[in-house]
Amino acid sequence: MRDWLKQEPIVIVDGQGSVLRDVHGREYLDANASIWTNLHGHRHPKINAAIHRQLQKIAHSSALGLANEPASLLGEALVQATHLDLPKVFFSDDGSTALEVALKLAYEFARRTGRSRKPRFLSLAGAYHGDTVGAVSLGHIDLFHKAYAGLLFASDSVMAPYCYRCPFNQAKPERTDARLTRQCQNECLGQVERCFKRQKKKGQAYAALVLEPVMQGAAGMIPQPAGWLRHVAALARDHGAQLIADEVMTGFGRMGMGKIHEPQSLPHGLSPTPPPLFACDREGVRPNFLAVAKGLTGGYLPMAATLTTQEVFDAFLGEYAEFKTFFHGHSFTANQLGSAAALASLELLQTQRSLHARQTLEQVLRTELSSLWALPNIGDIRQEGLVAGIELVQDWHTRQPFDLRDQAGLRVCSEMARRGVLTRPIGNVIPLLPPYCTSQDQAVKMVRVLKRAVRAVFGTKAKQGQ
Ligand code: PMP
Repeated sequence: MRDWLKQEPIVIVDGQGSVLRDVHGREYLDANASIWTNLHGHRHPKINAAIHRQLQKIAHSSALGLANEPASLLGEALVQATHLDLPKVFFSDDGSTALEVALKLAYEFARRTGRSRKPRFLSLAGAYHGDTVGAVSLGHIDLFHKAYAGLLFASDSVMAPYCYRCPFNQAKPERTDARLTRQCQNECLGQVERCFKRQKKKGQAYAALVLEPVMQGAAGMIPQPAGWLRHVAALARDHGAQLIADEVMTGFGRMGMGKIHEPQSLPHGLSPTPPPLFACDREGVRPNFLAVAKGLTGGYLPMAATLTTQEVFDAFLGEYAEFKTFFHGHSFTANQLGSAAALASLELLQTQRSLHARQTLEQVLRTELSSLWALPNIGDIRQEGLVAGIELVQDWHTRQPFDLRDQAGLRVCSEMARRGVLTRPIGNVIPLLPPYCTSQDQAVKMVRVLKRAVRAVFGTKAKQGQ
């Protein structure tokens, strides 16, 4: 906080496409899409027009005991877009509340269906699911979460893939197409299986496994080897636990085109039409809950949704006097302006133009990022679709991390800002998540500026003995 008070903040006044402008007229590329929210660029004419049109009708009326048109249409559009046979949608305000909703529903569902009297949750090491108390209870990042330990309910964590720092020494950083080896199955997946078995022995099956599918975001942009998600989803199902997929970061096309897998766990007749907009779809995994936020409105307004199954919905039906309703609701639930923006954003996402732009941008990023391997303080470059995490290290040979007190990530990001590119570090990892409208030149600039910033902070030596 002292450091924050010492500096003059960058004060943004407007934006267009991937560019933000501050009060001094300086322009910046929005290289983390305004904390992973923006999809189609700032001031997109179609989203602006949709919000204006809605404003002519009404900005907001409560959804508690009432419905409204754009939110109902959005619910339907989301069910269609996800392809996951999750027909029930509960709206809330942001990623944290979307997780709170999933958490409470899964908790009550486990109790009402007799699966557990004291439902417990399992989530991944390094997980981040938001900053509200329930979401923090599912999180396992000590730096953020430890201070509130006394406020939280207990949840268990299980090892998640982090191939660059694989404790079983299975993966090399250059392996961008990491797949599960037999040893990964034994070691990494074995950990998950053992957790479920241990809990079963205690006679208390987990209510749910909570995870970010395909890539963990705030853990440091850590991708999972192909097949891992499918296997853990099957483990959860076999042990009677629900699967809560947090697609707050990964949803709405962020994970790129990817390889499309056979829909093993989808009900008969459902097939994902390529390219999938949601990470679960990539591995043919059908979660019981899907939490989305950030990109839902194209990054224009705070709004979130939790999708779930008919089975969960039915557990909350009853006669009035049974009081079985889901006791949860926010003042701005199903807000009309947000819904109008979200409908316009979903439509844009499904256009050929957007598809093509995403495909090109993903490729440009991949090509440009490969030039960073030459720098000795770049340990790992992790790209999954339109998300990249570049891990800074003291020494690429030993993979020795920087102490957080060295502020390596912060120093690189502030050098980037001086050169007109904005992103926010996650410890020693520099995230790049450009808006989908980012031009090739802009994407190239993002990576080149990152390279110059790394050199400015750590010196200009190249890697020796590669
Ligand atoms: N889940 C994930 C995976 C996230 O990345 C975030 C935010 N970074 C959240 C939940 C919380 O979202 P919000 O900040 O909108 O509450």
